[in-house]
Amino acid sequence: MASLCKLSVIVPSYNEEASLPELHRRVTAACERAVGGDYELLLVNDGSTDGTWAGLTALAARDARLRCIDLTRNYGHQSAVTAGLALSRGERVLLLDADLQDPPELLGAMMEKMDAGFDVVYAQRRSREGEGFFKKATAALFYRLLRRLSDVDIPQDTGDFRLMRRTVVVALNALPEQHRFVRGMVAWVGFRQTAVLYDREKRRSGQSHYPFWKMASLAVDAITSFSIVPLRLIVTLAGLTFLLSLLLMVYAFVSWAFFQAVAGWTSLISVVLFLGSVQLLSLGIIGEYVGRTFIESKRRPTYLIREVLQAEPDIPGTRPAEIRE
Ligand code: UDP
Ligand code: MG
Repeated sequence: MASLCKLSVIVPSYNEEASLPELHRRVTAACERAVGGDYELLLVNDGSTDGTWAGLTALAARDARLRCIDLTRNYGHQSAVTAGLALSRGERVLLLDADLQDPPELLGAMMEKMDAGFDVVYAQRRSREGEGFFKKATAALFYRLLRRLSDVDIPQDTGDFRLMRRTVVVALNALPEQHRFVRGMVAWVGFRQTAVLYDREKRRSGQSHYPFWKMASLAVDAITSFSIVPLRLIVTLAGLTFLLSLLLMVYAFVSWAFFQAVAGWTSLISVVLFLGSVQLLSLGIIGEYVGRTFIESKRRPTYLIREVLQAEPDIPGTRPAEIRE
């Protein structure tokens, strides 16, 4: 078994060539301040198409504490984080975005809270600089919706920027699902959790890799993997439409019995349309869950690794053949 170090910092990176040098400098400084030399930096290259991997290789040549993991393609942010978690060997593990929107300098405050006995210290955004109204509004809506729909209490306005104790990471690594919504899973595993507040900075360079459709897909991932409320909603919806149809039937019967009942077309067509749309919607929701069951049932790994630079030789999971179990 490989020996543990005091701290692992996991940074998923997708086309982050431009921010790497400053990221490396600031993270190194923050780690030195927090634990001296006993840390490792795990940079996960999530199938970048720019010079990210070349940049990482160059950095690794100068820094023995840097371990770079090259995934075989772009698997997505959450899978890259999962890869980092699986390979980390720190007693404490920090998750951090590569674009420096999360200030590494917050590490000190997070370590203090953990010293005080907490197992998870997540960074909660007090403000979000440089993000448009639309992103803020959809993010706010998403967190509130998720909180209402799921049984687990996922803290609002937090990303994946957080410090976790080894026991928590081991618990996360043991969860078998392939669709991984990491911050939800962290909430699910429990332990003693607390927040530190911070102001989210602007992205240093490049564009957000979370355009609207990707955010929407993360939201669907999050909701369907943590809640079956949408399924239950179908039943409620069915009940409501049934009541409505009863009323309409009474109306239709009364008009047939006491009035000249030619006025049927409008109500008929509305009922047909209404029921049709409710059924389609319900099928869609069921389909979402069935699809998810199908994908999970294939039990494919969340990611595959092409190469690890400066890997710990005896860390399980660094050889492609044994990436999972
Ligand atoms: N990222 C990744 N794979 C992806 C998309 C993003 O590893 O397919 C990384 C990205 O490099 C960054 C982090 O995930 O370090 C968060 O992405 P981004 O900054 O684009 O998201 P936002 O901050 O806009 O929510
Ligand atoms: Mg970002």
